[in-house]
Amino acid sequence: MSTSAQQLLPSGNSSTFSILIVDDNDIQLEIMQHALGNLHKVYLARSAEEAQTLIFNNPSINLILLDIEMPESSGFQLCDNLKASPVTKEIPIIFVSGVDTIEAKVSAFEKGGVDYITKPYNADELKCRVNSHLRIVSQTQSLVAKAYVDALTQVYNRRKYNEVILLEWKRAIRHNYAVSLLLFDIDNFKHYNDTYGHACGDSALAKIAEALNPLAHRCEDTFCRYGGEEFALILPECTKDGAIQKAIEAIEIVKAEAICHEGIGSNDFLSISVGVATVTPSIAIDSIDLFKQADIALYNAKNNGRNGYSVSKTE
Ligand code: GH3
Ligand code: MG
Ligand code: MG
Ligand code: MG
Repeated sequence: MSTSAQQLLPSGNSSTFSILIVDDNDIQLEIMQHALGNLHKVYLARSAEEAQTLIFNNPSINLILLDIEMPESSGFQLCDNLKASPVTKEIPIIFVSGVDTIEAKVSAFEKGGVDYITKPYNADELKCRVNSHLRIVSQTQSLVAKAYVDALTQVYNRRKYNEVILLEWKRAIRHNYAVSLLLFDIDNFKHYNDTYGHACGDSALAKIAEALNPLAHRCEDTFCRYGGEEFALILPECTKDGAIQKAIEAIEIVKAEAICHEGIGSNDFLSISVGVATVTPSIAIDSIDLFKQADIALYNAKNNGRNGYSVSKTE
């Protein structure tokens, strides 16, 4: 199943955090593991190199306790490397060092460290500082997750669409596969609002979004509210035939919801129209072109009488 917008929300339980402790001294590692190990999942590394490999293999590390003075590469060097990568730059780093000079402390914060603890330290103080930073981690995760969720429908929003389409476009260029895009638009929704009121319109929107969301079946698929009464489904590594199947499925899903909408002619239930486009991306094509093609196809589906799909001719 794909990661749904709701699943993105963090657990918020501090006992589930993963902490990496980096120190060349085994006794220091043991003391810190003893202080934190029963509260959190703790990883240990004895050098900056070992730590770097471990972090890139464990993107779920939430916090790093980092010694500065180590034989090969220093803690500062590792910090620079981590801050230079978009994958690891947000992981908070607490420096834990025997160096007790103002210069070292200032450098640590300038390099992006969130705290500086001098050895020897009190284990209770260490725990308090770690937990304080983990609280901020949790709050940040929660805010970031909410930033990608549409408040009314609880599915992903346009911000998510914008990020995913760029990411998937690049990935598809690298691996040379097709990306399909489906645009859904609820038919005659202005009339629905005018007939049943805006509050009913809101709950119909939420109901349709919830019903269509599982169409993003694979973890790389993304369903979102594009805006107003329009939704989008990004399907990486999906052929035109696969996308058409999804369009047919979507129309059936909305039909099965049987949301009464009288007074607009033959169809007494809310329906959707779907625009389908498939492109094999290249550096010569912009992802906006895929959207434009799906949008033209959607326009054609509307012109063909609604409650149906249309497929972009260009590929
Ligand atoms: P068409 O079949 O051509 O798509 O007709 P339509 O009436 O659905 O299209 P139109 O663009 O004329 O109207 C879209 C309507 O969607 C108007 C707008 O009030 C409604 N809408 C957009 N966002 C929301 C929302 O968040 N809540 C509610 N209740 N209505 C919304
Ligand atoms: Mg050391
Ligand atoms: Mg519309
Ligand atoms: Mg509409």
